[in-house]
Amino acid sequence: MKVLKFGGTSVGSAQRMKEVAKLILDGEQKIVVLSAMSGTTNTLVEISDYLYKKNPVGANEVINALERKYMTTIEELYSTEEYKELAKETIKANFGYIRSFTKDLFTLFEEKVVLAQGELMSTAMFNLYLKECGVKSALLPALEYARTDKNAEPDPAYIREKLTALLAETPDQEIYITQGYICRNAYGEIDNLQRGGSDYSASLIGAAIDADEIQIWTDIDGMHNNDPRYVEGTTPVRQLHFEEAAELAYFGAKILHPTCITPAKLNNIPVRLLNTMDPSAPGTLISNETEMNKIKAVAAKDGITSIKIKSGRMLMAYGFMRKVFEIFESYQTPVDMVTTSEVGVSLTIDNQRHLPEILDELKKFGTVTVDSEMVIICVVGDLEWTNLGFEAKVVEALKNIPVRMISYGGSNYNISILVKAEDKKAALQSLSENLFQ
Ligand code: ADP
Ligand code: ASP
Ligand code: MG
Repeated sequence: MKVLKFGGTSVGSAQRMKEVAKLILDGEQKIVVLSAMSGTTNTLVEISDYLYKKNPVGANEVINALERKYMTTIEELYSTEEYKELAKETIKANFGYIRSFTKDLFTLFEEKVVLAQGELMSTAMFNLYLKECGVKSALLPALEYARTDKNAEPDPAYIREKLTALLAETPDQEIYITQGYICRNAYGEIDNLQRGGSDYSASLIGAAIDADEIQIWTDIDGMHNNDPRYVEGTTPVRQLHFEEAAELAYFGAKILHPTCITPAKLNNIPVRLLNTMDPSAPGTLISNETEMNKIKAVAAKDGITSIKIKSGRMLMAYGFMRKVFEIFESYQTPVDMVTTSEVGVSLTIDNQRHLPEILDELKKFGTVTVDSEMVIICVVGDLEWTNLGFEAKVVEALKNIPVRMISYGGSNYNISILVKAEDKKAALQSLSENLFQ
């Protein structure tokens, strides 16, 4: 069975939902994972902000406007009065639930419940639409099988067991529809897989059912060779290795959630990126194969802080690195890039929550320098070290941009370069000109 995930823009209007229905109805059984309609999750975040700030009036205005939008979509989506009524009743219940949070204490827990309504509504509406069209479809409630453990990591064994049981309970459907993004945590509370997490849901579901293929349908023809939001004239990359795609996703290619490739890679399930606006376009195939000896794409990850620790004690010493990294571990702060010299080490983090405490502890080892508002530019491809010349091309492309760190050799697939946020666009453009034109 295949798993097909449709993002927010792909289900962003009645017309788009109708097109998705046409696209998936080919007689083959499949699991369809949906995001919330585009803009909905952002609006739910906005509502939550009002409620955190104890402004129920502001929240209600936004809730009412969003509800009106849904009622219009319902009028356009269904052709019969019966289904219009059914859908209105269902969606009004979701909005009633959201409104119930305007009266009480609002915490992180309530926010997660509010954020979950987007995917609950899009899937309920789409399922009703398929039923109106006479399709045998069923909902697989994500809150009954998608779960994270005590470390907030997805629990693949639990997901596999529960999802298999749910599928067995509702056999013989053509289309199984489920919510991306939302899950329960180890304590059974409603939670989510972070913004953009529907891609991750699709990959976890694919792994859980040993899918033949995971398809991520979005608004662009596959993974482009650079970020189309910053660079003009980017072109699709037709084939990527799992490792290459994982690096691009982790380092900022928004088309994929940062960790969504991992479950597919571990289970060797190909991932295809496809375009809902142009379904016959070839898109990108991500698998164990790749074009050799080639730089494929560039991505950028924002919000990076670099930290340099310079210490006389590092000279010829062992154990220094361990002590430095233990500090990051004790504050549960992942390190992305590392570069070293004989007297110092520089590294980068993207989570600044414990930065003051981390800096206090690092100062025990030597002089500490911090650069904030940095960006990691990541160049990805088959960059095996015996292949000649690609490092030179990357460095040449960046010759007019101040570079704070360069890291290569951690894998055969990437070179990472740290630059100031203000130089990001120029760096991406220059890399495109020098590497792909
Ligand atoms: P969805 O709502 O379907 O999940 P997203 O907005 O999350 O869609 O991801 C698709 C968007 O990712 C594209 O519209 C594009 O602007 C952006 N993007 C950033 N980098 C890339 C890239 N390298 N290739 C393709 N798209 C990219
Ligand atoms: N709806 C969620 C978001 O906007 C999840 C997703 O679209 O992947 O972040
Ligand atoms: Mg997305």
